[in-house]
Amino acid sequence: MDCIFCKLAQGEIPTDVLYEDEEIFVFTDQNPQAPVHFLAIPKKHIASLNEADADDAALLGRLLLRIRQIAEDEGFAADGYRVVNNIGQDGGQSVAHIHFHVLAGRSLQWPPG
Ligand code: AMP
Ligand code: ZN
Repeated sequence: MDCIFCKLAQGEIPTDVLYEDEEIFVFTDQNPQAPVHFLAIPKKHIASLNEADADDAALLGRLLLRIRQIAEDEGFAADGYRVVNNIGQDGGQSVAHIHFHVLAGRSLQWPPG
């Protein structure tokens, strides 16, 4: 499958890895929108939340809790941060492998454009 995030997660393309285990891969976004901006993905190829099924529930739950753990370890949990999952065309999803943006380090605006 020709998926850039699968290639990053499998180590075929080098990137700045913040965390990795057998099922989760976390790496720096190449176009950061905040002082802290990384992406957290399951290594399993799931195109978007629309394609996730019931068997993925525990994996996605662990992914969210891993993000919380990284936020604590990196020291921005208490100040706050944002976790964003874009889905499909109107959601602004540009890479078809489910990913959670994690943004921190400045006061973020709401609502998004
Ligand atoms: P989205 O628009 O929600 O699909 O987000 C895709 C994100 O992936 C964007 O923030 C891009 O900057 C980021 N991105 C795309 N390719 C790479 C890459 N090779 N390494 C790191 N980040 C990437
Ligand atoms: Zn993929």
